Amino acid sequence: MIPNNPKELNYSKVKTYRECPYLFKLKYVLGKREGLIPATSLGVSIHRTLEAYHTQSNDPSEILRYYNRCWLGAGYHSASEQMEYYLKGKRMLEVYGQKEYSRNSTVYSTEKEFIFEYEGWTFRGKIDRIDKLPDGTWEVIDYKTDAEVDENFDIRNSLQLAIYSIGARRTWNMQNGKASIYFVAADKKISADFSIFEEKQILDTFISAGQSIELGEFEPDTRHCEFCLMNNRCPYSTVKKEN
Ligand code: SF4
Repeated sequence: MIPNNPKELNYSKVKTYRECPYLFKLKYVLGKREGLIPATSLGVSIHRTLEAYHTQSNDPSEILRYYNRCWLGAGYHSASEQMEYYLKGKRMLEVYGQKEYSRNSTVYSTEKEFIFEYEGWTFRGKIDRIDKLPDGTWEVIDYKTDAEVDENFDIRNSLQLAIYSIGARRTWNMQNGKASIYFVAADKKISADFSIFEEKQILDTFISAGQSIELGEFEPDTRHCEFCLMNNRCPYSTVKKEN
């Protein structure tokens, strides 16, 4: 069994496959859905809010109005848990909104999809935000809504930012710029110039995963079971959660 569109690769597919090939099979071949947990649900609410805010307003005083409109109430176990996360998100967006008053870049796009072909494969991806900087260069931005900043985030080896940079260059001819991961809760960015990403090496990494997928190689890798959202449904899980 192979997934639909086996020749189409994106970061989520490749990340999932590299984490655990069997998890890939569950999600992309058998169509199992991971479901929402509070952290991922809050992430959806924040992403929706920032997209609506940047496309419809860009007035920082309105950002919480968009938050209320875009809030997703799914994935919480109780009303109090939902309120706890709602307030976390509100604090994130208050910080974000304050920073907006001094932003000197122009938001060029939000949730913009790139697509390009390479060696018989199709590469797709959606970039949270792209800014045009005052010097005419570009910044592709991926929002992270984790509560804590990952101080060890290794941007040089980030497949996600690498493929976004390559996608921006190949699809929209944005040759000069930087890629940033933006920890919204802490208002902290980690950035790297597009040029640090070795294009051929990155694309070959994606293709290598794609070739294994085409061959139907879906061996479980149990190193990530503890954090896997399918670990209560997977027959190979080394961790079983109580329902
Ligand atoms: S529970 Fe473990 S083996 Fe099963 S899909 Fe998740 S990571 Fe893979």
